[in-house]
Parts: sequence; C-alpha cells; structure tokens
Amino acid sequence: MKKVYSAANITMVGLVKDVLDSHGIRTVIRNQFLSAAAGELPPIECWPELWIIDDRRYEQCRQLVEEILGAENTQAAPWQCPDCHEEIEGQFSQCWRCGAGRREPGGKQ
Ligand SMILES: [Zn+2]
Repeated sequence: MKKVYSAANITMVGLVKDVLDSHGIRTVIRNQFLSAAAGELPPIECWPELWIIDDRRYEQCRQLVEEILGAENTQAAPWQCPDCHEEIEGQFSQCWRCGAGRREPGGKQ
C-alpha cells in the first residue's frame, strides 16, 4: 500500500480514484469519513487520502495523478485566439473557430 494522492477536497480524491479505476488500478480512500465529520476544511492530517493496493503500479499512478492535476489547472485558464479573438477553453490548444494555434501572451506573432 502506498499513498498516491491527498487533497482537502474529497471530490478531487474521488475524481482521481475514478481515473485510476478506469486504468485497472485498485485504490482505497482513507480518512474519507474523518473529514466529512469535521464539517469544514480539515487539517492536513485529516485530508482524504488515496492509497494504491499494488505498489508496483506506483510510478504509473504518480504520472496519471500529475496528468489529472495538470488538466485541472489548464481548464482554469481560458485563452483568447490571437487571430479571431474567440475565447477558447483552457484544455484546447487550437482555436475551434479558425484553427489558429495557442500563443503565449507576449509571444512573437
Ligand atoms: Zn481563432
């Protein structure tokens, strides 16, 4: 058993668990009920934790968790198309309207 992820928000832990499940990786959540009983943002030692059963898949788990968290961060930041000024959701790297690629702010045109 190894801990692969922990967050104050049980929803995030559940989301990560679902993705790992879909890759055939068996996991258990610890502290699930502790934090629910606290009624507010729990101290870090009470955060829900996601543990994998099979330690041999730990590295694969870490990568998946990073991908999931990276996708979450990207979604939080929509961008504007430099050509047609359409607002594009953060998970897309191309404009759905005119096909222009994403450019970093201040980058060369
Ligand atoms: Zn565009």
